[in-house]
Amino acid sequence: MTTTIIGYPRIGRHLELKKAVEAYHSQTITAADLNRIAAQIRQQNWQTQAQAGIDWLPVNDFSYEDQVLDTAALFNLIPQRFQQLQLSPLDTYFAMARGTQTATGFLPPLKMATWFNTRYGYFIPELDDSTTIQLTGTKPFDEFKEAKQLGYHARPTIIGPYTLLKFSRITGTQKISDYIEGFVAAYAQLFKQFDQLGADWLQLDEPALVLAPTKADLALFRHIYTALLPQKGQLKILLQTAYGDIREAYAQLISQDFDALGLDFVDGQQTEACIQEQGFPDDKILFAGIVNGRNVWRTNYQTVLNQLHRLPVKHVVLSTSCSLLHLPISLKSETTLPEHVRPYLAFADEKLADLVAINDLLAGRKPALLLVNQQLFNHSRGAENTRVTERLQTLTSADYHRKSERAVRQQVQQRAVPLPMLPTTTIGSFPQTAADQQRKMAFKQGKLTQAQFQSATHKRMQACLTEQTKLGLDVLVTGEYDRDDMISDFDHQLSGFLFTEHAWIQTFGTYCAQPPIIWGDIAWTHPITVAETAAAQQLTNRPVKGVLTGPLTLVNWAYPREDVPLRVSATQIALALQDEAHALETNGIHIIQIDEPAFRSQLPLRRTDWYTGYFNWAIKVIRLVASRLQSTTRFHIHMCYDHYTDILDVLDQLDADALSLSAKDPTLLDALHDAHFTTPVGLGMFDTAQFKLSTTDTLVTKLQASIKQLGPEHLWVNPDCGLKTLPEADALTNLERMVRATKQIREII
Ligand code: GLN
Ligand code: ZN
Repeated sequence: MTTTIIGYPRIGRHLELKKAVEAYHSQTITAADLNRIAAQIRQQNWQTQAQAGIDWLPVNDFSYEDQVLDTAALFNLIPQRFQQLQLSPLDTYFAMARGTQTATGFLPPLKMATWFNTRYGYFIPELDDSTTIQLTGTKPFDEFKEAKQLGYHARPTIIGPYTLLKFSRITGTQKISDYIEGFVAAYAQLFKQFDQLGADWLQLDEPALVLAPTKADLALFRHIYTALLPQKGQLKILLQTAYGDIREAYAQLISQDFDALGLDFVDGQQTEACIQEQGFPDDKILFAGIVNGRNVWRTNYQTVLNQLHRLPVKHVVLSTSCSLLHLPISLKSETTLPEHVRPYLAFADEKLADLVAINDLLAGRKPALLLVNQQLFNHSRGAENTRVTERLQTLTSADYHRKSERAVRQQVQQRAVPLPMLPTTTIGSFPQTAADQQRKMAFKQGKLTQAQFQSATHKRMQACLTEQTKLGLDVLVTGEYDRDDMISDFDHQLSGFLFTEHAWIQTFGTYCAQPPIIWGDIAWTHPITVAETAAAQQLTNRPVKGVLTGPLTLVNWAYPREDVPLRVSATQIALALQDEAHALETNGIHIIQIDEPAFRSQLPLRRTDWYTGYFNWAIKVIRLVASRLQSTTRFHIHMCYDHYTDILDVLDQLDADALSLSAKDPTLLDALHDAHFTTPVGLGMFDTAQFKLSTTDTLVTKLQASIKQLGPEHLWVNPDCGLKTLPEADALTNLERMVRATKQIREII
């Protein structure tokens, strides 16, 4: 059989791409240098794949920023405001991705959205009334020629017209249907050029098909391809999907004139059922995505072989479930991972080896590979913690309920720690000045001892508390000067996680993350935030809020285990946080907040699966963190980055004493009102992602609007997220005005 992959990571083994793009922006290298470095990365990527034994290589899976943005730029989906800049094509592209300084100020980049349920973000193309869809770029052709010249059997890949159209935002007065003709003509042009260049195949990525297309969506898809496919000439078309199954579209796809379909057998729960029940045409090739392209574990060869043997399909190409973009490049770069865990792990390069091994086994070659692989799965990994598993087994419904109901709690809380009407607070972090960053850096470089660093951080926290008192905030925070990152600050302190040295993945643009790996059962072994929070509480009479990263964010931003459901790891983390919360409480902290910015990030793609696939257990996981708290302790939840109006019923079931949400969505207030939302809310009074000052008057108006819809009794007043990235002066001014606006309102109600 033939082996291929959907795409390979492009960030570079040593983050060469990130470094080069950033160097280009700081003008330390030229566009020509940047192009040269990019070409080297591509060449190395192809070479790696070929040397691993992969037969057929994708091209144009490379990108400076994002493949959706590449495709938009290729077809001239460039909003007027960027065209007007009259920059080179490269700089126009970067302006869309990063924004740019203009004579009249900063022109912000295109908005971003989450790419399926991954951590990757894509740029949202815009279609306005003046958009002329046209093949104006040459990137995919250039990269195809480059690979061909190097002698590789290359298959160009590109985002398909349906996904591009569905993922674009129409900003003018036209409708989706007004753009179809333009898209078809532009893609037909692309077909023609590839045909002329001697490409035999073209991969059109249409992952939007896994997002439960409606009848109208399927009609749109049919319409586009009925017009487009007759224009393919000699070119063969692979219609590639990923991130789930295409149960709604399957019947239609097998009847359309594609030469091959690429399907996901890993996240696609019903992929195999579709094929078994509806068959697969003999004249098409199935690109079977049998190797998990987004998780870091070795493939279970026997499971995959069984699956392949079951398939009633004549022509199969072995492939990955999605692009390998979501994986670090190679395990080889890791030097500190324990020896016994290494055989279980597979990053991008090891996934290539898995594909080739499976192919060998199918052909009856190298049977020893199977035996070695089976050893991994037939034995315990030694990652169990019986104390934790036993604790999980003894959970009962009482573990998901607090000792008293919220209404009762509110009274005892108010008695224990009285707060004024419309209590003011912040989300946890305070601005980081240059001195703050230097202090951390000095500590990391060993220029400060642990004791020196702690004492300096303590002083900083003390100053921050004084500042908060001066501002008149009611509930104080530590300012998080001892913290680095909301994920690693917590998971590094818990047992059960693995950490890497160089395993970076691209999240958005050239931003990268280094997700931890959940290796085994997770346990709390020692206090994490207690010393710092309790020390802060010692310094003030006002209540200090303890701030923890929530269990769902910790699991959702890690590579999950494959031997237990995500729910199990999430529950284990919840129990660990329950222990931490208990320790805070016994050390005099009466308000505890968990941050859950990634609350929705693992939501199943189909709405019909939201409860069964996620919320049914996610709600319990959050409630578990709080269930053992004293009734006098206020339990807060903070969420941000996302929209919430469609899940208010879920949020209300979390039984928080307060929920702070970003108020960027103008429909949120009405939605909370209409939903008869019972949880007290803290509506983000100002946007911490923008360096913008709010006037006291606008804040007063905002508060009045909130009071009108929700009443004053159950409202908190806070910014919409941490202040870490804001310039100090702006943050303090905004806070001062926020408190002033609150005091004004308190006087009139
Ligand atoms: N407590 C964190 C902070 O204030 C919250 C971060 C987040 O929600 N993204 O920075
Ligand atoms: Zn936040």
